Amino acid sequence: MSLRLLLVGPPGAGKGTQAKTIAEKFGIANISTGAIFRSHISRGTELGKQAAAYIEGGNLVPDELTDALVRARLSEADAQNGFLLDGYPRNLHQVDALDGILQDLQLPLSVVAELDIPDEDIVGRLLRRAEIEKRADDTEEVIRHRIAVYHSETKPVTAAYAERGLLLRVDGTGTIEQVAQNLQLALAPFAEK
Ligand code: AMP
Repeated sequence: MSLRLLLVGPPGAGKGTQAKTIAEKFGIANISTGAIFRSHISRGTELGKQAAAYIEGGNLVPDELTDALVRARLSEADAQNGFLLDGYPRNLHQVDALDGILQDLQLPLSVVAELDIPDEDIVGRLLRRAEIEKRADDTEEVIRHRIAVYHSETKPVTAAYAERGLLLRVDGTGTIEQVAQNLQLALAPFAEK
């Protein structure tokens, strides 16, 4: 099966957790820009050094770095059979950049799924995750900043895809299993045999 999917939603919506299940279920490449950056930071690469301060402050890494990373990753063999992008695009510039990348690679988007959770749930979820994962950008101050960045920069991304008729909103408030089930049912009609 093939599916070319964007998974969007606020920080703490459970995108990373759901991405894993969905990518396995549909047999597609699971591509998280945040996870790729964190891996570069822990390996001490040049890209990791360039990205670290932005990530620790809860700010977006500059578009040139992020767009290049996504172009390279989507050009890899596994992504030709379908992909799930988690955490990209994060602003309207990246929406344009992704359009260009996907056009060049001839990989049109199947659908954009938004995990919908109320704002008031976000901080609590992120603080709980902070205790478990010990992520450097999960302190309360940085969390609040990331939510502000989400509203100002990333929310318009969702609106742009809604205008194109590509946006599917999925209730993200249940248990992990319930949300996974909702997502799978909602996405199945978009998968190509
Ligand atoms: P995430 O794991 O998706 O929450 O991303 C963690 C951090 O990585 C973000 O707060 C940003 O600093 C950085 N990051 C991830 N994806 C992007 C992106 N598409 N554009 C810019 N920065 C990003």
